[in-house]
Amino acid sequence: MPEGTDFIREPERRVPVYKRVGVLVCGSGSAGLAAAICAARNGADTLIVERNPFLGGQSTAAFQNWFGGPTDILTGFAKEFAERLDERGAAKLLERFRTQNATTGIKPLNYHLSIEPEEWKYLAADMVEEAGVKVITNTLAVDAIVENRGVKGIIIENKSGRQAVMADVVIDASGDADIAARAGAPIDKLPKSEYLIAMIPAVRVGGINYQKVAEYIRKHPEDFRTPVGSGFDFNGENMASIQGIGGWTSLVNQGKEKGEFPAELHGISLQINPSHIKRGMGYFIGAHLSSSMKEGKRYPWNAEHVMQTELDGRNRARKLVAFLQKRVPGFEDCFLIDVSNHVGPQDSRRIIGEYVLTRQHEYEGRTSDDDIALITITWPDGGVLQYATNLVSPITWTDLPLATSPYTVTPAAAQMYYRLRCP
Ligand SMILES: Cc1cc2nc3c(=O)[nH]c(=O)nc-3n(C[C@H](O)[C@H](O)[C@H](O)COP(=O)(O)OP(=O)(O)OC[C@H]3O[C@@H](n4cnc5c(N)ncnc54)[C@H](O)[C@@H]3O)c2cc1C
Repeated sequence: MPEGTDFIREPERRVPVYKRVGVLVCGSGSAGLAAAICAARNGADTLIVERNPFLGGQSTAAFQNWFGGPTDILTGFAKEFAERLDERGAAKLLERFRTQNATTGIKPLNYHLSIEPEEWKYLAADMVEEAGVKVITNTLAVDAIVENRGVKGIIIENKSGRQAVMADVVIDASGDADIAARAGAPIDKLPKSEYLIAMIPAVRVGGINYQKVAEYIRKHPEDFRTPVGSGFDFNGENMASIQGIGGWTSLVNQGKEKGEFPAELHGISLQINPSHIKRGMGYFIGAHLSSSMKEGKRYPWNAEHVMQTELDGRNRARKLVAFLQKRVPGFEDCFLIDVSNHVGPQDSRRIIGEYVLTRQHEYEGRTSDDDIALITITWPDGGVLQYATNLVSPITWTDLPLATSPYTVTPAAAQMYYRLRCP
């Protein structure tokens, strides 16, 4: 029987109301936390519904623990959160690479925040409690309650059964627009290319000898994408200024030739902060466990696709660790601690709102009064382009060589808006 053609009819039933609140936030990722805590601070009776047993979304469940950008966009709730993580030794706010980029003349990234996911969970729980936000975890939002074209609540499922939550305002911070989709909002699932930026799991590894890693980096700076410099080590200031290392290119290439480095992995990219270094730990996030175009045709709203991506990620994690142990100095005794609870979707359903951003906006450098974000992308030739809004300074739209951009736009670059998952 072809998929989607076999149905049964659910019997109608009475569903108990779990709570009636002012603001209901579905999801506790970066977006949901900010929305819920700020709503509660402004006096709203607020409830978070979260499917995981902990808060944090991709930052905790998918180990997406790297954030970077110009320092001056780190304002408001995000700044407060970052500073409180820093106080707890779970992140390090750094100034980084102050040089001008030769291609664009635009200042590249100048802050970098690499966080410890476990502490993020604790901080999120503390801040939610301080603000008086109610939380129900281990609970999946499964449907939207729609009346007169407005979402009045949601249906939840958890160990207590199927219940309803009614709210004056429902904020969909599920990352996948689950509530919007179930409410029948117009959704544009796929870009023209028909594939999304792939879902990616991440991996936590222990037993790393950072002194040996540093030694190798000092001897082979050409093997690394990050400009580490000859004095590089993992001590003091110098240690703290490097939080992500991508490279080991010659070892990867040799490994590929010998069939030891899994062909489906792009390379090695290690994410660390000083607290990880002290404990000999590191995270492998991003491209190393991704992501062929074929895998971009797996969608985060399809349970079988998500499962397959998780299984692939687990297999690759094993192979990656085996390669590290065998071939990469400093990793001889390393071991796999865990693979992230979830794969990180980098792209998902897009709600078609009143205003739709398109690729043309990039070329024209269009801006508007209610812009809220800045995007940095690296173009295929390595040039860094930063798209600023009128809310942040000193970089402005007028700095950008947009209309005359000579760069080839790859589908991935053209989908750069994926990071603007704001509620
Ligand atoms: C590999 C990778 C690299 C990235 N790199 C960067 C980067 O360099 N810089 C950057 O800024 N961003 C980056 N991102 C993106 C960033 O991680 C996300 O944009 C951000 O985490 C999204 O936050 P969010 O709150 O919108 O959604 P999420 O973090 O996905 O949170 C959604 C929450 O909702 C919950 N949820 C979902 N569905 C339901 C449901 N039906 N019922 C109940 N709960 C539900 C989830 O469990 C989760 O807690 C990257 C992402 C990936 C995967």
